[in-house]
Amino acid sequence: MSNVFYDKLIKTRHYIHQHPEVSENEFETTEFIKNYLSKIGIRIVNYPLKTGVIAEIGSGLPIIALRADIDALPIIEKTGLDYASQKEAMHACGHDFHQTSLLGAAEILKTQEAQLKGTVRLIFQPAEENFQGAHQVIEAGGLDNVSAIIGYHNNPHLKPGQIGLRSGAIMAGVEQFLVTVEGLSAHAARPDLGVDTVLTITTIINNLQSIVARTVSPFDSAVLSVTHIDVGKTWNVLPAEGYFEGTIRTFDPQVRLSVIEKFTRIVETTAQQFGAKVSIQWGNSPKVTFNHAELTPIIFEHSKAFAEVIETLPSTGGEDFAAYQEKIPGVFAFIGSNGEPNAPDWHHDDFIVKDEALPVAVNYYVENALRLLDYYQRK
Ligand SMILES: [Zn+2]
Ligand SMILES: [Zn+2]
Repeated sequence: MSNVFYDKLIKTRHYIHQHPEVSENEFETTEFIKNYLSKIGIRIVNYPLKTGVIAEIGSGLPIIALRADIDALPIIEKTGLDYASQKEAMHACGHDFHQTSLLGAAEILKTQEAQLKGTVRLIFQPAEENFQGAHQVIEAGGLDNVSAIIGYHNNPHLKPGQIGLRSGAIMAGVEQFLVTVEGLSAHAARPDLGVDTVLTITTIINNLQSIVARTVSPFDSAVLSVTHIDVGKTWNVLPAEGYFEGTIRTFDPQVRLSVIEKFTRIVETTAQQFGAKVSIQWGNSPKVTFNHAELTPIIFEHSKAFAEVIETLPSTGGEDFAAYQEKIPGVFAFIGSNGEPNAPDWHHDDFIVKDEALPVAVNYYVENALRLLDYYQRK
């Protein structure tokens, strides 16, 4: 594609970057995308979504879905870029880049519509940051009749021009837990008359650390972090109640289930040992982003035509793309977006995506959509 095409696309990204909207409030962004697509003759399909857009190019089966997330974060931008955010929010995860590359891909695929061997469904997904958007899209019917789905996240630790990919887990299963412990308040001088909530909580936390150390195979991995404890107010009273919270990260669906099961057992039996009551609340966080065993090598090989494709390690971050992969085959890649040795990480107020990263992201969508249409057509 020409420089004119990419110059226009870069301007589009800068505009989107200046006008970020946080999860489930992507109203102007939704309008912007709809207008952009309508102007180039792409049909918007009316799914019941509050925010986000689903559109289609081509007709008939198979259907390959391309997904980009569109939401921003409640962060005040400090990049000093001339196209920095004009609002009290920031595209600090680079979703401005994701949606722009999908707009660019749509524009290219539209010019090839007559030759498409099926349908490309464009999913501009809202609310990735609060892990609600993929569920909303699935609920609205966005995956209906879709054979496979392709997505990616920009990665500031890879250079523009690089794609990182692997079969199996590429992003972690994320668990968010909050454990409330109810003991029995007593004078600090008469602990025998109460149930010690403080000792119960600290013992539970100690015991939890044995899960990863003693029950996860050395060939698998998991992380369990308790990050916040709140119990008691003063020096001479044993408190009646307290809580702690934190997160678990896993990379294998089986390991995930096993760690959750052991977590529950340890929390309950330790509390029981002290005679305390306990309850566990789990957040609505994503499962393992697990790349399809058959499709990933196809995309890995095919992407070598336009990018340097490298076998990547999984990230310990989470992605609600995992929800799609629970339903249908899916492939999720990392696309290089910065590559400087000290490039700021996702969700930092000085996070920067380089403009020159766009062509590989556009090609990733276009070329792999065509490749998978062909694959499912022959199947
Ligand atoms: Zn993010
Ligand atoms: Zn993100």
